[in-house]
Amino acid sequence: MNGCKTCGKPLSRVNRTGWCRQHYAAANNGGEKWANDNRARWADPAQRDRIVIGLRSAAAQRIAWCPLEYRAEYRRLTRTKHYSAAAARSMIEATIAQHMRAYLRTGKLQQTRLAA
Ligand SMILES: [Zn+2]
Repeated sequence: MNGCKTCGKPLSRVNRTGWCRQHYAAANNGGEKWANDNRARWADPAQRDRIVIGLRSAAAQRIAWCPLEYRAEYRRLTRTKHYSAAAARSMIEATIAQHMRAYLRTGKLQQTRLAA
């Protein structure tokens, strides 16, 4: 072993890895190792289900404040218009309040116009 496998920097005679300090971590904890670990993790159906169910329930809890009929509009505000979640939420809440006032005045549900 004369030099680092990555950069060729001369290594001490007692070096056992074949890499200098700077490149050992990159070569052994880098993208390839991460990809292999990730592949192994997702290959196990039980663990995959656990991860997916966890992600879905977290997403469901994040949107739980929003009534179903306003979710399409919330999604449009956050995904298409790129408003922050907080800004979109306050806009949706303002819309809900406005619809409630209109309902109290007219007796007509405003949400029925949103249902698609
Ligand atoms: Zn190196």
